[in-house]
Order: sequence, then C-alpha cells, then structure tokens
Amino acid sequence: MIRKFDREAYRWEGVAPHVYKQDSAVFRDVTKQVLFEDEGDLPVQFRYFQVEPGGWSSFEHHEHMHMVVIFRGEGHALIGDEVHEVREGDLITIPPWAWHQFRADRGVPLGFFCLVNARRDAPSYPTEAEEAALREKPEVAAFLDGKA
Ligand code: MN
Repeated sequence: MIRKFDREAYRWEGVAPHVYKQDSAVFRDVTKQVLFEDEGDLPVQFRYFQVEPGGWSSFEHHEHMHMVVIFRGEGHALIGDEVHEVREGDLITIPPWAWHQFRADRGVPLGFFCLVNARRDAPSYPTEAEEAALREKPEVAAFLDGKA
C-alpha cells in the first residue's frame, strides 16, 4: 500500500491531521498526523508533528522513548537539560524520563517524524520546582522563554 505525500500541504493521503488546542501553556500551534499505527509485527506508532513558527510542542517526560527525524525546517530542541539546534535531516534519540520540547523559533515550521511504542505510558509535565531546577541553566531558561 502506498499513500502519496502532498509536498505543498505536508500531508499524506488518507491521514487526517489532528490540531491540538491552541494557546495552551503546554503546547502551541502543533499538528499531529499518525502515519503508521501498530501494523503487523511492528507494535509502533509513527507520527509526523509540525510546529508552526513561534509554536512549541509539549514540555514533558515519560518512561517510553522517542526516535525523531527532523523532516522540515529548523528550530531548537530541549533534551534533558541540553538545548540543541535542530534542522532537517537530524536524528534525535530521547531516552526514558528525559525532559523534552521542540520549538519552531527560527521563523519557519519545524516538522519531525517521531517513533514510539504502541504501548506506552502517559506523559507528565514539570512541576514548578522541576521547571525552576531546569531553569538554573541559563541556556535552558532562554530556550523556555523562546530566546534560544
Ligand atoms: Mn514525548
């Protein structure tokens, strides 16, 4: 089976984008498309997320891992307590319990594929104390304030 890619819309045939609630404290201007889901002997979900310019993905952690491939644009990613510049083609492994967030803070959309186990735990979000501890690193504080 093949589902063709629309390179203008960044959509795939038969895949409906899910638009998250806007202007949340947790995420902003993010869409998710589930491209493959728990098929045959591959118990995984393979998704495409797109963060629009100025937006960000959830700031979260969980036991399950992510494998991420940046597909479109550029921006920054927080992984654990490290801030990285990311751009099209980069490969990112997010280990269990590493805090993570993606930000489209370069004036262009940031699109990425993300692989997860089909059976996975729910994310949790930082408490005020956990965020304060992360913000002790100036580059992390700058990232979270959209000034990376
Ligand atoms: Mn996650």
